[in-house]
Amino acid sequence: MPAHINKNYLNLKESYLFADIAHRVAEFQKANPDREIIRMGIGDVTRPLPETVVNAMKKACDEMGTPEHFHGYGPEQGYDFLREAVRKYYEGFGVSLDISEIFISDGAKSDCGNLLDILGTDNTVLVQDPVYPVYADTNVMDNRTIIYAKASEENDFLPMPEEKYKADIIYICSPNNPTGAVYNREQLKKWVDFALSMDSIIFFDAAYECFIDGDEPHSIYEIPGAKKCAVEVCSLSKKAGFTGTRCGYTIVPLELKRDGVQLNKLWLRRQTTKFNGVCYIVQRGAEAVFTEQGEKEISGNIHYYKENARIIMDTLDELGIYYTGGRYSPYVWMKCPKGMNSWTFFQYLLEEAGIVGTPGAGFGQSGENFFRLTAFSTHENTRKAMEKFRQLLK
Ligand code: PLP
Repeated sequence: MPAHINKNYLNLKESYLFADIAHRVAEFQKANPDREIIRMGIGDVTRPLPETVVNAMKKACDEMGTPEHFHGYGPEQGYDFLREAVRKYYEGFGVSLDISEIFISDGAKSDCGNLLDILGTDNTVLVQDPVYPVYADTNVMDNRTIIYAKASEENDFLPMPEEKYKADIIYICSPNNPTGAVYNREQLKKWVDFALSMDSIIFFDAAYECFIDGDEPHSIYEIPGAKKCAVEVCSLSKKAGFTGTRCGYTIVPLELKRDGVQLNKLWLRRQTTKFNGVCYIVQRGAEAVFTEQGEKEISGNIHYYKENARIIMDTLDELGIYYTGGRYSPYVWMKCPKGMNSWTFFQYLLEEAGIVGTPGAGFGQSGENFFRLTAFSTHENTRKAMEKFRQLLK
């Protein structure tokens, strides 16, 4: 008998978005070698790791070279020193966690996909449109039925529960990628109540929680009842510049049960079978993120990105262009001006102003007339780009 592939993979739509963007920019640059290009579509952080984190990793690296302090295989769910630091971090939001509910990961993306291992493929799934593509694609890989909740100008890109959105697994990303929209406490409570009423599970992605400095929840567990219906993934990627260093954490509450089984137990079993933990050196760096000095240095970086977002928002306000995000997010999701669709606007912006952003259509149908700008550039380039915006779109 010949071996078979997982044929669900053949149902994945090829993602041409970033390749397409790169191709169009390269063509433009070839035809216009003297034109300056400003990249406002960067999805990766640009500020380096905080000094405290680097020093902690250097120290851990030295330890690894000594027989007394060498670390081999660590606990699959992460070292207690880091889990304890995460536990204390959640205390800051008024959320009390047991250390056994915290699992250290190599990032939010991996665990977004991995968590599906412990859930049946017969579950239906609700994702929003536009969507961070990982939520949809990982479910296509398992052939789950996907329902899309339309996010639009009408609901400020924050869809709320409706009868037609009944599903077994509900993805919520707040602050959102790509729209930057953030649910408030009352809105999140409606989602939690909706999930509890159906025994659904919420997948809460808090990768951008560090951008919130108002009253909006950082964690789904700030909402009463959420421990009975939600898992949460988070990441140090955007918070502390760990996109290339790789560390995050996943919370699976002990109270969360389905089919009479604790999901926490299943997840522990899955992790101890398929994962051998995050590098000791990286975990020591991650621990430093949560120290007073680490938080101080990090807030400088986040402030830097937020200042860029403010420059973008001020310009769009001045031009009277509708947008979401920016306030508690590195993403500003703007409506394409003059009725253009997102690819037409992409080309127009590139040719007329040398600015590169991300067409909303790449995140789903509802992104068709929207465009994502990011705050991960330098102040200088953000200001320059926004000056060009003013001249072009006034
Ligand atoms: N979740 C969302 C919504 C993201 O936008 C990203 C990265 O851009 C991730 C998760 C991935 O995070 P990590 O770098 O921890 O894998």
